[in-house]
Amino acid sequence: MGRTDLNRDALRRHDVMIVGGGLVGASLALALQQADLDVALIEPQPLRAAPAAGVWDSRIYAISPGNVAFLESLGVWQRLDAQRVQRVEAMSICGDAPAGRLQFSAYDAGLRELAFIVEGGALQRALDAVIDDGRAVRMLRPAQASALAVTADAAHLTLADGTRVAAQLVIGTDGGDSWVRQAANMAARVSDYRQRGVVANFETEKNHRATAFQWFRNDGVLALLPLPGRQVSMVWSTSEEHAQALLAMDGLQLAAAVAAASGNVVGDLHTVTPAAAFPLRLAHVDTLVAQRIALAGDAAHHVHPLAGQGVNLGFRDVRTLVDVLSARAPQQDCGDWSLLRRYARARREDIAGMELGTDGLQKLFALQRVWISGVRNSGMGVLNRLPMLKNLLIRHAAA
Ligand SMILES: Cc1cc2nc3c(=O)[nH]c(=O)nc-3n(C[C@H](O)[C@H](O)[C@H](O)COP(=O)(O)OP(=O)(O)OC[C@H]3O[C@@H](n4cnc5c(N)ncnc54)[C@H](O)[C@@H]3O)c2cc1C
Repeated sequence: MGRTDLNRDALRRHDVMIVGGGLVGASLALALQQADLDVALIEPQPLRAAPAAGVWDSRIYAISPGNVAFLESLGVWQRLDAQRVQRVEAMSICGDAPAGRLQFSAYDAGLRELAFIVEGGALQRALDAVIDDGRAVRMLRPAQASALAVTADAAHLTLADGTRVAAQLVIGTDGGDSWVRQAANMAARVSDYRQRGVVANFETEKNHRATAFQWFRNDGVLALLPLPGRQVSMVWSTSEEHAQALLAMDGLQLAAAVAAASGNVVGDLHTVTPAAAFPLRLAHVDTLVAQRIALAGDAAHHVHPLAGQGVNLGFRDVRTLVDVLSARAPQQDCGDWSLLRRYARARREDIAGMELGTDGLQKLFALQRVWISGVRNSGMGVLNRLPMLKNLLIRHAAA
């Protein structure tokens, strides 16, 4: 690139600049570019390499049918290897007593499936590949943002290497510890659950029958999600101490511990992907927007993974933001305050519901008192006998 091109590039003002190219940021970049906006994306990590053949990612996501349709509309879902995607047709949730049992079925709710299980790395690579094919998003990668300044007519970012980028709107999709959120002085209440999400994959003795299993136990929330063939993926949200104990186990010990904790629901287990652990936090931001700034994904709401809804919530942020920006008037600036307020208002209810629901459930099951145990288990039993309410919940989670 010659000096004139560099100068022209430095003066260019993008419609939107996205900071953070994880699942949420990459899908947003693609959707906005497909809506004919001029988009730049900043991401510090280099592109992820594909794993060796036959190796399974232990970061697994349950993606709602509504979000699968969104990823299909971007041309991303079709890029996944269908042999490595699993449909979830039923869900079984157990409390810590026999009375506490909830069963959900896609068939009863009039749906084809409740969710799709996909490997995180594969979904990220599919998004990156479609962005790369289009060549229309300006990729700044690997690059780190180091300063943010907002003026009346633009937001300006300076990268660690001195590159300056300007846009009408900056969107922070840079995860739970969002740099954008802090640089824009947007208040967040962050609390640490002092828990870790321990993940691992297992081969199973028995068929999982396309069922996702979850147990609310004294030592945390254990989930076994179905993978193609006779495999399941575990997420055990548990105390730091118990997580360390699980991480210290060899494959045989881990498989035996998880089989016992799951009541051998899918028979004996054999560990195929060793355990890894992720810290669990709650982050609540008072507002998703500031002058020429918007937040989406975990930067805007970091929720407990017990409902498997974090990235689903983030994709729903993206769908709303793209709708709002696409519907703006022909000459309207993307950073126009009325647009940003429309986005924040439209997302308020979904996010608040998920924050309250996941945090409330986590706290309710963390309490060890006997009478509370009775109330929560009978509550689950009652809900299980209310098909209309159950189907309403399923339809909300499927969005
Ligand atoms: C154990 C576990 C299981 C989960 N299971 C599910 C599930 O089944 N379904 C579900 O919906 N959700 C699930 N979640 C939640 C899900 O992982 C998150 O909600 C999701 O990853 C958020 O995506 P994101 O793109 O917003 O943020 P991230 O995935 O955190 O991505 C942020 C991106 O920003 C980049 N970045 C960071 N700092 C900067 C910076 N300064 N400048 C530029 N870029 C930066 C990072 O490199 C990264 O690429 C789970 C979470 C855990 C811990």
